[in-house]
Amino acid sequence: MKLFRKTKVKKMDYKKHWPENGLEVVAKCPWCHSNKSQVLYEGLSDIVFGTAPGVWTFLQCKECASGYLSPRPTLDTIHLAYRQYYTHAASFERGSSGIKGLLKYFRLALVNGYRNKIYNSHFSPSIRAGFYLTRLRTRTTRIIEDDLRYIPPILMGTTPKILDIGCGNLGFLRLVSQGGWQAFGCDLDPEIKNLITETDSIDLRVGSSEVFLEEAGSFDVITLSHVIEHIHDPIAELERIFILLRPGGFLYIDAPNIESFGHHFWSRYWLGLDAPRHLSLPTSKVLSEALIRLGFIDIKFIERPGIWGSISVKSARLELGKAYNDPSSDHALRMPKTPPFGLRGSEFLTLTAVKPV
Ligand SMILES: [Zn+2]
Repeated sequence: MKLFRKTKVKKMDYKKHWPENGLEVVAKCPWCHSNKSQVLYEGLSDIVFGTAPGVWTFLQCKECASGYLSPRPTLDTIHLAYRQYYTHAASFERGSSGIKGLLKYFRLALVNGYRNKIYNSHFSPSIRAGFYLTRLRTRTTRIIEDDLRYIPPILMGTTPKILDIGCGNLGFLRLVSQGGWQAFGCDLDPEIKNLITETDSIDLRVGSSEVFLEEAGSFDVITLSHVIEHIHDPIAELERIFILLRPGGFLYIDAPNIESFGHHFWSRYWLGLDAPRHLSLPTSKVLSEALIRLGFIDIKFIERPGIWGSISVKSARLELGKAYNDPSSDHALRMPKTPPFGLRGSEFLTLTAVKPV
């Protein structure tokens, strides 16, 4: 759900209210359905893009410790939150990976050599030496695998189907379609249709995952990158995803981690809150429990230390009252002395899971 608008929108006065009939109270935790909650933050506003009206309250579930907005924008009015919303997740991922636009032909060929060896893919240009050279640099190989969302390799002689839900700027789908996967995508933003070019080989549809229900049971891979936190009923969405996957199919999810070190450190200024676009933030425990309940197996959380650098600086800028991308006061940022290491406290909750055969 990475919407893509080029039009300039006037910065919103936060004190302007969200339309009253466009709000709904969330009586139960969207993740565990408990009705016991406490207020974590009051008076939140859109400090990230500065375009959505309203003042927001973020609750924490007393049962599972997930967080959620209540009241929150209704499905009918949520689009008001997405004016001037630029490829949110894609910019996080690409920015942190450093790959986008930086690789010269030779480096690209090396990277593709590595990709083709690991994934049995068909990226071009490619040189075989890539595999051996990039093996020497674990950070590089990590970035490559990060970009491909830890999906399984292509089985010889097959063209696996990948569905990216909330596909936004199409970056991931273009990448995988170049590598030999069949690319499918959906997004709620009707403007994504304008992004398709003649060279794209992507089955792109406007809507939620429901638009692919006629192909239930056929997808080899489904990915959601910074999408689940935007969805009004995330459990229902995960249920549909289970139906869409083929037996043995692979799921990738990443989302801001409410238990992250950055959230503890910057609290209400932490970039991952992003009110009112982020409607709920699950804990790792409740997310994996939901997946298990739905029938998924082999749930693995992935450590992505490369994310920290980009996310931490953006949160620290927000705390100073700056735009997340404004480096003018970076000398004054409040940063932790020791950045966190390890899976626990990671800025993103990134996991993979499998639908059993
Ligand atoms: Zn809960």
